[in-house]
Amino acid sequence: MAQLYFYYSAMNAGKSTALLQSSYNYHERGMRTLIYTAKIDNRFHVAKVSSRIGISSSAILFHIKTKFFQDINTATEHETVHCILVDESQFLTRRQVQDLSEVVDILNIPVLCYGLRTDFRGELFSGSQYLLAWSDKLIELKTICYCGRKAGMVLRVDSLGKPVILGDQIQIGGNEKYMSVCRKHYFEALQIASI
Ligand SMILES: [Zn+2]
Repeated sequence: MAQLYFYYSAMNAGKSTALLQSSYNYHERGMRTLIYTAKIDNRFHVAKVSSRIGISSSAILFHIKTKFFQDINTATEHETVHCILVDESQFLTRRQVQDLSEVVDILNIPVLCYGLRTDFRGELFSGSQYLLAWSDKLIELKTICYCGRKAGMVLRVDSLGKPVILGDQIQIGGNEKYMSVCRKHYFEALQIASI
């Protein structure tokens, strides 16, 4: 039976690399995959999933109106699809996570979602909330804080490296950067920023 998987982590834990490796494993066995990634802004002209270690693959862009079940059902009418891979899955809506669950349960195609668990405020993203709630398998991809502990939190820092506490969940075109840190250093940074 197919299953719904959620591979979650903080930033820079190698989510895209893991996604591309999984897709490659299917292709190696002569199987077909569909890769989706979020249309967040216009930074990328070409729809693709890129890994920091230099590999990439073309992808289908999804946005809040994308109807996954319908699209995938149509795609499978012509050719068998063996696996669906979704990058940036934290941006899925509740309805889209339900849609992807139906791809698993009705079309019997495994769906592998990769995304951030929480935003820089420590709040769950909508996609992550429902993926954590409904997935068959939860797999944490780990990265480390500068102190050596597991980094599960994402800190937004401004151009001077100062932590940012407030702001929109998605910051487009700002000078801010993100750092993955452990919980201890996340809360310490927030405390320093609020003084
Ligand atoms: Zn730390």
